[in-house]
Amino acid sequence: MGRKIAAGHGQRLWPAFALLGAVVVLPTAGVFWFMNQAMQNEQLVIRQRLADLYRSQLRNAADQIQIAFAKKFEFLDHTVRQHPAPESFSLLADAGEVDAVLIYDNGKLKYPEPIPFHRLSAEPQTPRWQEARRLEFGKNDFNAAARAYAVIVRQSADARERALALVGEARCLNKSGKKSKAIEVLVHSPADAAYRDAKDAQGRSIALNAQLFALQLMKDPRHPLFQETAKLLVEQLNDYRGTPVSSSQRRFLIGQVRSLWPDCPENATFAAEELAASFAGLRAPQLIPGRIQPAGIKDVWAYSNPGKSYIALFSKARLMNFMESAIASRKPANGVRLTVIPPGTEGSWLQSEKIGDSIPSWNLALYLDGEDPLQSAARQKTAFYVWTGVLMTAGIALLSILLAVYLGRQMRLTRLKNDLIATVSHELKTPLASMRLLVDTLRDGHSHDARLVEEYLQMIAKENARLTSLIEGFLTFSRMERNKAKFDQKVLQTGEIVDAALESIGNRLHAPGCRLEVDLQEPLPAVIGDRDALVTVFVNLLDNALKYTGESKEICLRGFASNGNVCFEIEDNGIGFPRSASKKIFERFYQVDRTLSRRAGGCGLGLSIVQFILSAHNGSITAASRPGKGSTFTVLLPAAE
Ligand code: ADP
Repeated sequence: MGRKIAAGHGQRLWPAFALLGAVVVLPTAGVFWFMNQAMQNEQLVIRQRLADLYRSQLRNAADQIQIAFAKKFEFLDHTVRQHPAPESFSLLADAGEVDAVLIYDNGKLKYPEPIPFHRLSAEPQTPRWQEARRLEFGKNDFNAAARAYAVIVRQSADARERALALVGEARCLNKSGKKSKAIEVLVHSPADAAYRDAKDAQGRSIALNAQLFALQLMKDPRHPLFQETAKLLVEQLNDYRGTPVSSSQRRFLIGQVRSLWPDCPENATFAAEELAASFAGLRAPQLIPGRIQPAGIKDVWAYSNPGKSYIALFSKARLMNFMESAIASRKPANGVRLTVIPPGTEGSWLQSEKIGDSIPSWNLALYLDGEDPLQSAARQKTAFYVWTGVLMTAGIALLSILLAVYLGRQMRLTRLKNDLIATVSHELKTPLASMRLLVDTLRDGHSHDARLVEEYLQMIAKENARLTSLIEGFLTFSRMERNKAKFDQKVLQTGEIVDAALESIGNRLHAPGCRLEVDLQEPLPAVIGDRDALVTVFVNLLDNALKYTGESKEICLRGFASNGNVCFEIEDNGIGFPRSASKKIFERFYQVDRTLSRRAGGCGLGLSIVQFILSAHNGSITAASRPGKGSTFTVLLPAAE
């Protein structure tokens, strides 16, 4: 039975809660959807605004790079125009303007020159030269050959023959086992310009080759003459103004020196020689003049001037550095950074812009330094939207809680009213039915028996009194419910209230089997309140004590002052109630044993009326009981000053 009722309740409540849930969930979902939309729009707007802001910055920086390139190309043009090809090569490579440069004259490569530029007869044709050669190679008489070469060195008027003879003398001295003598001859060779300019059959400088020969004979860099000789040789190789040295001999000699001398100093022009030679060795790509474009070598870019008088080669790193320093002076807006982006670079930049025609397919990109303003703006907005959402949701939740509380109260009230109607009808039915029965009996002919009539009339009066008290109870309760009970605030003598209550209960307290003990401390402090209401409190409590005790009733009413209060204890030796009911008995309509209470003439309102009155007087009531042994109700009322 109980379960059925519970199920019925659940079924009725379920749609209400579902509705309430929907009332919260739907607007919340709506709020979050709008928030999301708004956030996305906001991001788009911010991105667009940033893009507009930075576009002009990018363009200006790109133009600045173009200007720097124009200046650079002008400088290259000027240098190539003003200086001989090898000198231009060395000037530009040394200054770090280029990584290498190939210089042309009317379409012909001038430096690095592709082929030896002198074609000479292989050997001097003089008789003494023939003789020396014969001694060296025919007779293998190296001592005699060395002497013969030495004579030529001293006597020949031809610088080339002298230079060749010097090398021959050293060669023969070395072959005859006089290595240090040979080194001496090579190292202390005559220093006149003509001698230095002498070339061999392949157009190579004989003097430079002789120095390499000396180093090869010394072999060990720790040899006393090695460093000095090697440095002198490197110096000469790096001199593009003096002796014309072919590019190929330069590369060959520097390669040889490096292999003999690991500590050989690095030099920009040597690296340039290597790069220029490898570019010259390529099947030259079709270069569009006036643009920097791939050179056909990894990470190398080439620029051919419109006059086609040179091709400058740049490494990727050099180009990057050049462009970065061109825009280094430009200070972009706070939080952004400009970077040059070579073609094929992947990355996430905010915006990019082509640099321009002089270096097509390279870009300038704008990165965000540190925190992305987009992100931080978005985060701020997100926080704003989240808070708005949270507050709105909280608002909706709060409203729905209030609504639920209100609805709950209304439902409880409705139920209460229904209960009240049912109880009232039920309670009124019994006395009315008994009265009708008694009246009917009297009318049915028992009216001539005076004693019976008297008895019946007394019974009718008793039922009537009960009916009146019931209606009294309901009215009090109803007033309380509507919060209409108005209480006086008068100073009252406590003893008087008790006396009035005792008087109101009257004879019932003096019936046989009933012993009442009233123990009031003298003097008992006065209280402030409504006399009738407070009398009702004692009447109800004493009435209960009478109702819920057996044949032999022992009731005790004690009153005493306690901590600024007046305390009353109403104790009985009745049926009591379980501990669990000690709070519930103050609820409206609650009855521990409904049948018993009804029989005793209760309707479950007495204690709730008592509690209501006491709390309106800033007082309180508690109950303690042991089933079968009796109950004690303790009332506290604030004492008047
Ligand atoms: P009722 O009109 O039913 O007496 P009350 O509000 O006065 O209503 O009391 C509520 C219930 O508390 C009673 O039905 C009864 O079960 C219990 N009760 C009240 N007073 C006592 C008492 N002195 N001894 C035992 N039970 C009591």
